[in-house]
Amino acid sequence: MITRTEPPATVSKRRRPPRAVTATATARPCDMRISIIGCGDAFGSGGRFSSATLIEANEGTCLLDCGPSTMTALNGRRIDPDRVDVVILTHLHGDHFAGIPFFLLDAQWIRRRRRPLTILGPPGTRRRLHDTLEALFPSSTAQTPWSFAWTVEERQPGETSVQHGFTIRTMEVVHPSGAPATAVRLAAAGKVFAHSGDTEWTEVLLELAAGADLLFLECFAAVPMRTHLDYATLVARRAAFDAKRVVLTHLGPGMLAHLEAVDRALFEVAEDGLSFEL
Ligand SMILES: [Zn+2]
Repeated sequence: MITRTEPPATVSKRRRPPRAVTATATARPCDMRISIIGCGDAFGSGGRFSSATLIEANEGTCLLDCGPSTMTALNGRRIDPDRVDVVILTHLHGDHFAGIPFFLLDAQWIRRRRRPLTILGPPGTRRRLHDTLEALFPSSTAQTPWSFAWTVEERQPGETSVQHGFTIRTMEVVHPSGAPATAVRLAAAGKVFAHSGDTEWTEVLLELAAGADLLFLECFAAVPMRTHLDYATLVARRAAFDAKRVVLTHLGPGMLAHLEAVDRALFEVAEDGLSFEL
């Protein structure tokens, strides 16, 4: 179980004042901690950061998606990106992966990272990431003298992999992004966190949710639309989700205007900075 005594996912190892270790014992022991770094849509609606979720367990730390504002959000909360062992990409839309070049170059030039980093994504991730790095920072792929090893592992939807104590399983969902879009289940220490990624309604979501301790569902819209989930559909199907807690995330402007109507007995609503302990 996680027994660190610093505040959950907030304190940089390098910059932490010495007294914070013992003076702020707010975290109870838990097996998995999920912290919302960004729960906004692609456009920063409501001032929310783009998609990123930090998942910590005893043997490692994963970052699920890395939207373009992720470094701003991590720095704002004094979370050290060097803690991340694995970045998992649900799909290859910019608001979910375009923060990776900044993450890598911060690790190289600011933090002088030494620990290896794995980037796990759907087929096409390696090419898309290379092209994005070159578009944003020309010659960075060939001329950066990397101080750490970073590797991209492409996984077919449905494959299971084990990384730093996490069992990671992806499932294909319905969301055009030039590569397969996936939902992700992470299991560690007997706890399960599941995330829909971006998708319109698909029965795969019920399989994703089965037995999960915590389920994040994207809810971009209030009413049905193509390519994304919506509140009306999720309310109608809520009883079919076999998950202990369900959190709505990736909220677009229509859903943000609809928040007062959310049935809080059925759903929790994501906010940047919220943490969940399992
Ligand atoms: Zn998307």
